[in-house]
Amino acid sequence: MINTQTDVTEHIRGSKIRLTDLSHDEIGDDHMYTGIDTPLRKDAFELSDKEKMDKIAYHFGEIMHTLGLDLTDDSLKGTPQRVAKMYVQEIFSGLNPANKPKIALFDNKYKYQQMLVEKDISFYSNCEHHFVPIIGKAHIAYVGKDKVIGLSKLNRIVQHYAKRPQVQERMTMQIAEELKQVLQTEHVAVVIEAKHLCVSSRGVNDDTSATVTSYYGGKFLNEQTKQEFLHYLG
Ligand SMILES: [Zn+2]
Repeated sequence: MINTQTDVTEHIRGSKIRLTDLSHDEIGDDHMYTGIDTPLRKDAFELSDKEKMDKIAYHFGEIMHTLGLDLTDDSLKGTPQRVAKMYVQEIFSGLNPANKPKIALFDNKYKYQQMLVEKDISFYSNCEHHFVPIIGKAHIAYVGKDKVIGLSKLNRIVQHYAKRPQVQERMTMQIAEELKQVLQTEHVAVVIEAKHLCVSSRGVNDDTSATVTSYYGGKFLNEQTKQEFLHYLG
């Protein structure tokens, strides 16, 4: 059982906010959230990256062909291979556990035991329901004890979980769980604010809304600590 509290945050700048609550398993009209683990098959990594790219290129070519596009056109003929490479090596590379960032911890030599906040970590992800971008910022905080983490590693953890077909709630939880495990502490907070292009560029065509999700664990469940964190986010 995950000890989680959800919250409604209102610090997003000047835009309408779609508020979500992690205790609900539904977001918006058609966005279902089924669990914290990305639903992967057991045989997910039996094919090599090269084999996956060949397969995806073939099928993406079929999609383009079905749409009526002329794949002999100079501008289009390389697209299936480009998309396949981008999927496997870049935007969905975070599916593969082999690509998980290696995290080294350092001794907390300064005995710093206050809150550390790393804010405005930009990320690009993709909605798993529409395969179009989710563009956002993650804000992370933890209260360290004996060990501290290199700051760039916080960024790398966010990027790793962003590079999957995602649901924002799941991404929030995955980052929080990873931080708790790596930092060996419950005192972790994660706030993510993001624009979903499946909402802004299609469907309801709402260009101004953003989605905010949050996770608070350990000391961050304390209202004062939480407010201090939110205060830093401005
Ligand atoms: Zn979507």
